[in-house]
Amino acid sequence: MKKNNIPTRIYLTEDQIPTTWYNLRADMKEKPAPLLNPGTKKPVTVSELSNVFCEKLAEQELDNDTRYFEIPKEVRDFYKMYRPSPLVRAYNLEKALGTPARIYFKYEGNNTSGSHKLNSAAAQVYYAKDQGLKGLTTETGAGQWGTALAESSAFFNLPLTVYMVKVSYEQKPFRKFVMETFDAEVIPSPSMTTKVGQKILSENPGTGGSLGCAISEAVEKAVGGIETRYVLGSVLNQVLLHQSVIGLESKAAMSMIDEYPDIIIGCAGGGSNLGGLIAPFMQDKILGNNDPRIIAVEPSSCPSLTRGVYAYDFCDTGKVTPLAKMYTLGSSFMPSPDHAGGLRYHGMSPIISKLYDDGLLDAVSVEQTKVFEAAVLFAKTETILPAPESAHAIKQAIDEALICKETGEEKVILFGLTGTGYFDMTAYNAFKEGRMTDYIPKDEELKKEFDKLPKL
Ligand SMILES: *Cc1c(COP(=O)(O)O)cnc(C)c1O
Repeated sequence: MKKNNIPTRIYLTEDQIPTTWYNLRADMKEKPAPLLNPGTKKPVTVSELSNVFCEKLAEQELDNDTRYFEIPKEVRDFYKMYRPSPLVRAYNLEKALGTPARIYFKYEGNNTSGSHKLNSAAAQVYYAKDQGLKGLTTETGAGQWGTALAESSAFFNLPLTVYMVKVSYEQKPFRKFVMETFDAEVIPSPSMTTKVGQKILSENPGTGGSLGCAISEAVEKAVGGIETRYVLGSVLNQVLLHQSVIGLESKAAMSMIDEYPDIIIGCAGGGSNLGGLIAPFMQDKILGNNDPRIIAVEPSSCPSLTRGVYAYDFCDTGKVTPLAKMYTLGSSFMPSPDHAGGLRYHGMSPIISKLYDDGLLDAVSVEQTKVFEAAVLFAKTETILPAPESAHAIKQAIDEALICKETGEEKVILFGLTGTGYFDMTAYNAFKEGRMTDYIPKDEELKKEFDKLPKL
């Protein structure tokens, strides 16, 4: 029976914001492979990592056993300014598709950063401040992470330097202005302010930069600075831990209306929103309490899960980070500049990589013109202009709902709507005017990068 008495927006109360984050690693039968020190090829220790990250975060990064971490009161109070985020029943999209499926999305775009990234930014800045640090550095691609971190840094009163991928810096000046409004220093990357930036520029003067390259610069700056640490917005175990707030709230809200998803869909760049959204549902799956199908959606132009290799690789282009075992396209892979939809990272969270390798989640890749078609349909039916990244999940949710239309199955679909697309209007405009193209890397191109992977 189609449940049509469910409210359109299912809100939890403030008291129902989770008090703990959930660490999925505690329930994984096999743990993700450890981060390795690239010099010694031995697993990194908390004390080694503490040179780069603040201590509490270094501990969270390496902790495979603690199931729940208490959310500090200050972070939970910060969350109250924009959480709980709504779970929305997409009645109008269902109607437009004529599907018997029930589609829900968890909307993380209701804050100035415009995405889920604030969930981890607030936590990371709080721990850095609590440790008495004097400054933070980070990278940002499209700008959401830098904005989230700038907001959090201004709130907790900690200076922030952001290395912003040069193409985005040039294409999205408004993102930069938002970060500067929150007092962050924004530097286009690659830059002359670091050794690794100078090296990259001398080899490739015209480069528009990449996330991997901005990470190298931000790490170098942090390690060389006084009481300064580096923070990263995705990929890391600690970030997936903080993002579990998305999944915990989703599960609580769905249980209020007596629903459980058959299919859970998230877009995958570095894997943090996906990892957070699926965490408590994956726990059910691993413990045998339920068996949802879980799907990661990535762009065809940067297909790390669907076409990458599962191997140890650097997390950055300049090879200054520890080695992570993950699905990767190679740390020097440069995604096509034509690709507007974000999700341009060469690797994938070690947790997501391990789950994928174990067959616990599926992955698909989609072309950006199809993604924008889905985005526009979604905007017109649900009146939220989605971020292009989020629209990857929308596209897959629509495809699954259309399969239900064929088979008549009333499946329950949950997807993560990670953010708004207000700063992506150049891409929407290119789509609207028919100037958007799809770029799919050739096997030979990928192979060249695989040959350069570190040999262990
Ligand atoms: C950063 C971002 C993503 C991708 O990052 P993940 O770590 O893979 O979640 C997706 N959507 C939006 C809106 C983002 O800002």
